[in-house]
Amino acid sequence: MKRIALEEHFLTPELAGYIEETFQNVNKDLAAMAVPRLLDVGPERIEIMDQCGLDFAVLSIAGPGVQIEPDTKLAVRLAEKSNDDLAEIIAQKPDRYGGLAHLAMQDPKAAADELERCVKELKFQGAMVNGQTLGVYLDAPENEVFWERASALKAPIYIHPGNPVSKPVCFEGHPGLWGPFWSWGVETATHALRLILAGVFERHPDAKLILGHMGESLPFMTWRFDSRLPISYHPEPPLPQAPSYYLKKNVTCTTSGVFDDTPLHCALAGLGEDNVMYSIDYPFEAAADAGKWIESANVSESVKEKICSKNAESILLNLK
Ligand code: MN
Repeated sequence: MKRIALEEHFLTPELAGYIEETFQNVNKDLAAMAVPRLLDVGPERIEIMDQCGLDFAVLSIAGPGVQIEPDTKLAVRLAEKSNDDLAEIIAQKPDRYGGLAHLAMQDPKAAADELERCVKELKFQGAMVNGQTLGVYLDAPENEVFWERASALKAPIYIHPGNPVSKPVCFEGHPGLWGPFWSWGVETATHALRLILAGVFERHPDAKLILGHMGESLPFMTWRFDSRLPISYHPEPPLPQAPSYYLKKNVTCTTSGVFDDTPLHCALAGLGEDNVMYSIDYPFEAAADAGKWIESANVSESVKEKICSKNAESILLNLK
């Protein structure tokens, strides 16, 4: 069964410095192991893909990349350069690698133009945004220009976890809470809910969001969202549909970093069987563990085929 994965990270030497932001959240051993693997897109990575049964990896810059760059012009220039570099990497192995665009959201119009260049000229599959950019989330009014373009291009936007600009007091005193163990999921799920409540998917019905980590817990929450929004302070203007409507229609997820049947079943039930895509989160997760798990995952063969390749082929651009 063909296998595609789409949260598979790499780094260019120029962007390598920005990952220090992420390394505040993971231990030194993981950080030391990750850097050489992120910089490698040659035979070693291909061998790991072969060993774990991965046919095709859609590559993305390991975050946060230029999203924490305060100089907008520099961020725009470095993002374009990294996309050009990725296009060259793909050209070396077009049967094994694809790509998600790296975008400087500091300038939403430039990000929209770069997204268009990446999917039309460089034939990328979509884009990845690493959470907030200098405190601005994707539901901000200035990002309307970006959603208009993404929606018109039918380009899926993958929101990858990152840190908020400041640490909320609830995370103080327990360093373990800050990062992949808990805070990244909270931050990213909140980002997705901001888009729903802001009506982004009402105004842009063709917009597609991708979340990693089995949907960052949102599939588990659908009933409560629908039950509790009516008694909460309504978004303005009010949403014509319940939150679960947008979760099923506009939100998709990957299995990145969650190799377990129970959350998989929840993601399939919460988002629908056409909206779950296999991913690993290389090199932060063991590719072999992901490969072994998906082979034995307790779902029908037809659903497994959707998860492993068919859904990616219909959601991502330029794959067929
Ligand atoms: Mn990741």
